[in-house]
Amino acid sequence: MTIIEKIRPAGAVAARHGESAGACARASTLPNPAARIVDVRDLRKTYGSGEHANHAVRGIDLAVHAGEIVGVLGPNGAGKTTTISIIEGLVPPDAGSVRVFGEAITARGAPERMRARIGVSMQNSVLPPLLTVRELLDFKALLHPAPMAAEALLERLGLAEKAQTQFRHLSGGQQQRLVLAMALVGNPDLLFLDEPTSQLDPQGRRAVWDLLIEQRQRHNAGMLVTTHQMEEAERLCDRVLIIDRGKIIAEGAPRALISTHCPERTLEFLTRPGTDLAFLGEIAAGEPDAAGMCAVRARPANVEAALAELIARQTRGALVCEDMRISIQTLEDVFLKLTGRGIRS
Ligand code: ATP
Repeated sequence: MTIIEKIRPAGAVAARHGESAGACARASTLPNPAARIVDVRDLRKTYGSGEHANHAVRGIDLAVHAGEIVGVLGPNGAGKTTTISIIEGLVPPDAGSVRVFGEAITARGAPERMRARIGVSMQNSVLPPLLTVRELLDFKALLHPAPMAAEALLERLGLAEKAQTQFRHLSGGQQQRLVLAMALVGNPDLLFLDEPTSQLDPQGRRAVWDLLIEQRQRHNAGMLVTTHQMEEAERLCDRVLIIDRGKIIAEGAPRALISTHCPERTLEFLTRPGTDLAFLGEIAAGEPDAAGMCAVRARPANVEAALAELIARQTRGALVCEDMRISIQTLEDVFLKLTGRGIRS
């Protein structure tokens, strides 16, 4: 479990949840179905044949609306890249239909007039090694009618000092930032982002998420983002499709998926060994730490009432209690519950 809330009054916790999962609050406004900019029906793709057949995509339906960030979340080999590559027109499907901005995508890819409206960042993009960051970005900007200012974009992505560096001399993370800058520079209406922050440090990831959310707000851009980072899906996406073995196994706003499939919350705190905690029901307690305190986890039926009782007992000196938290579950737990496997396995 990675989302942990320090205990505060119930209202404050709820407010914090609204703020940290801003995407969920946004998702409570249903997108206009007329503004469906990506519409995928019953997509299928098998690589190889006979006993070597690999059914990478097995009947995927998905939609992206203007102003909506949709995440495709799943473990390695789930079919995320294949799906996004088919939608971009890079890989031909065996069956199914793909429409982008209302037009069919065929084996020849997106029609020319549509390309200026789309930004793409694929994993391991190969760019001319001798061109500099600035040359590559300026070249990409030339293809669009109303590009963003290159300097500001490089600054936001932490590449300003690398503007004159050749592509071949960038680190993996810097190359990924440049590919993202090139996807964004044309102010696209639709972005396809394949694991856009997989090589970035935590600070870089947050900068990219902020930039993408800003682009959606300013430009009403829709985005389809593949990821296997829970935090990315929870913070960035309005809606998440959890995909496993080529099929969608769950779909919804991140918080809605968690509250539907894994609503249990855990009360965690430190206390002295031997403390009577029978009022919490079943508990899991660790060994005493250097300060002589044990970590305790409990899943009482009414977590608020249990917390109130814990605080009441502490106030009247009946027990010693520190670092109280309520932890909620994550999309990782949802995946585990639905498949019996971890998302990274
Ligand atoms: P990752 O998170 O590792 O990027 P993914 O969810 O994007 O994985 P895909 O890259 O779509 O998964 O791969 C789905 C399956 O299809 C995998 O089993 C992969 O080995 C296979 N596959 C992908 N591309 C090809 C290809 N060009 N030829 C043969 N098999 C392929």
